[in-house]
Amino acid sequence: MPEGHTIHRLAARHAELFAGDKVLATSPQGRFADGAARMSGTVLDGTEAYGKHLLHHHAGELTLHVHLGLYGKVTDGDGEPPEPVGQIRLRLTSDRHWLDLRGPTACELLTPPEVAALRARLGPDPLRADADPDRAYARISRSATPLAALLLDQAVVAGTGLIFVTEALFRAGLSPRLPGRELTRAGWQLLWSDLVELMTLAVATGRIDTVRAAHLPEAMGRPARVDRHGGEVYVYRRPGQPCHVCRTPVSRGTITARNLYWCPTCQS
Ligand SMILES: [Zn+2]
Repeated sequence: MPEGHTIHRLAARHAELFAGDKVLATSPQGRFADGAARMSGTVLDGTEAYGKHLLHHHAGELTLHVHLGLYGKVTDGDGEPPEPVGQIRLRLTSDRHWLDLRGPTACELLTPPEVAALRARLGPDPLRADADPDRAYARISRSATPLAALLLDQAVVAGTGLIFVTEALFRAGLSPRLPGRELTRAGWQLLWSDLVELMTLAVATGRIDTVRAAHLPEAMGRPARVDRHGGEVYVYRRPGQPCHVCRTPVSRGTITARNLYWCPTCQS
């Protein structure tokens, strides 16, 4: 599933393509035909991302809400759109650009109170200037749940997925199994600011890099990582391989049915 930086990049891209323009909407597949008809012909005022949720705010208090889930994909281009191929839930076109959305978990129109309700059920998003990390700590600090599970819960922190959580815990030297209530406020402040830094970098580059300069392939004389996710990481999907810092083989285990990776020496 895409992590929050991907959704923030999409929001910026869609504003660049359509903001201020009248947008025509259709649902070539038919599953969003009514919604597309309601929003078609309205002006896109702006876009925003909140965690893994993408919002297009249109004139007339109409907000398009998209959650890509595991299989959602967005493509776009200039000029006339191509002939529809496959299951296109939503197609947006303006005089200059087009955009196709396929396979999302959510594609719906929300009223302002429904947008407010969506925001209210999400934790602070490290990529948003209005995020309040104290809200997350209030939940973490009274929970016996393992820290990794808390950080993956979108009601605690929004936008963080397995790669950011795994890597930020490594960089902080914290075990993914540490009960939330054992995390100090100072520890949380460091972890939060590291998430902000890692996720902001990922928005800029479009990939997740978490390795400090001293542990990069060129600094260590090791081969670069080969993985379809791209990016240099410390422990994510590196089970059994030596830790870049201490050479201990990276461990793998499951927490709430998700694969977690950690260094048993650096993160004890
Ligand atoms: Zn280590």
